Amino acid sequence: MPIIHFIGAGPGDAELITVKGARLLREADVVVYAGSLVDLELVKTYAADAEVYDSAGMTLEETTRVLAEAVIAGKKVVRLHTGDPSIYGAIQEQMAELDLLGIDYEVVPGVTSAFAAAATLKQELTLPEVSQTVIITRLAGKTPVPEREKLAEIAKIGATLVIYLSVSMIDRVVAELLEGAYTAETPVAVVAKASWPDEQVVEGTLADIAGKVQAAGIGKQALILVGDVLKARREGLKAKSLLYDKGFSHEFRKGLVG
Ligand code: SAH
Repeated sequence: MPIIHFIGAGPGDAELITVKGARLLREADVVVYAGSLVDLELVKTYAADAEVYDSAGMTLEETTRVLAEAVIAGKKVVRLHTGDPSIYGAIQEQMAELDLLGIDYEVVPGVTSAFAAAATLKQELTLPEVSQTVIITRLAGKTPVPEREKLAEIAKIGATLVIYLSVSMIDRVVAELLEGAYTAETPVAVVAKASWPDEQVVEGTLADIAGKVQAAGIGKQALILVGDVLKARREGLKAKSLLYDKGFSHEFRKGLVG
C-alpha cells in the first residue's frame, strides 16, 4: 500500500513548492488541498489529471475518509497544505486519525509564509545586536491561545515577531504589543498574499499601522512582522554579522587578522 504524503505547497507562487513536493504532486492520483489558501492553479500545474478535493468545505471525518479509501485502493494520495504544514496546518489531528486506521504517511515541508514575507520585504529577521530570535505567534481567534502565550506576554521579549492569522484584529495586536517591549515607534510591516501576483505591503509603526492596514483594505491572508530589525532598511544597518567579517576566522575561512 502506498503512503499518504502531507505536502507544504509553499506561500503561493507555484515555484516555491519543493522539488520533492512537486514530484509527489505530479505522481498523485488523488489530491486533497486546502482550497481556502492554496491556489487551485498550483494544483492544476502539477497534478492536472488527479482527482481533486477541496478540503475547505469538508470535515475532518470526510477528508480522512477520502484519504484512507484512496490509499487503501492503492492510489497515490497527497494532502496539500499551504506554506509549511507544521505551522497552523491542523495536520496533527489528521495524522492521529490515520494512526487509528493504521495508515502510514510522510510529511514534506514547505516554505512558510513568514519566509515569503521576509523575502518580499528583502529583510533578514535575525540581525546582530538587534534581535537573534524570531517568534511565530497569533492572537486567539476561534482557536484559543494559552494564557502564558498571550501577545502582551510574548511582547515582553522584544524579539522579531511574525504574527499569523491576526490582521483582521490589528487594533488588538497593536494594543497588546504596546503593553510589552515595543513602543509607538517600533516598525511594523504587513504583507498580504506574499509571493502571489497581487501581493501587498503596508509599512509603518505601531502608531500608524492599524489605520494604514484598514485604508489599504488588507484581506485576511496577511502577516504582521514587528521589530527593530525592520529599521535596518529604513534607517541603515548598524551592526554587521561577524560571519563575513575579514578579521573573523571560522572553520571554512581563515581571517586576515588574528
Ligand atoms: N501553514 C501556513 C499557515 C496557515 S494559517 C504557512 O506555513 O504559511 C493561515 C495564515 O497564514 C493566514 O491567516 C496568514 O496570516 C498566513 N498566510 C498564509 N499564506 C500567506 C501569504 N502568502 N502571505 C501572507 N500571509 C499568509
